[in-house]
Amino acid sequence: MDQEQAVPEVCIICGQEKAEGIRIISQFICEECEAEMVRTEAEDAKYRFFIGRMKKIGLQKNA
Ligand SMILES: [Zn+2]
Repeated sequence: MDQEQAVPEVCIICGQEKAEGIRIISQFICEECEAEMVRTEAEDAKYRFFIGRMKKIGLQKNA
């Protein structure tokens, strides 16, 4: 039986060698940075949604 060997790769975000992570178009992103990215994106989406709502409310008030 072949043993699955985790080959460490250099994360493009933190620059550290990590065995666990994801590969996007041959670029490696470690688990920690991926989690951070997902969190940041979610925060960003929430922020944009919030701003969009604020603008809508503002426009409705002005109309
Ligand atoms: Zn990383």
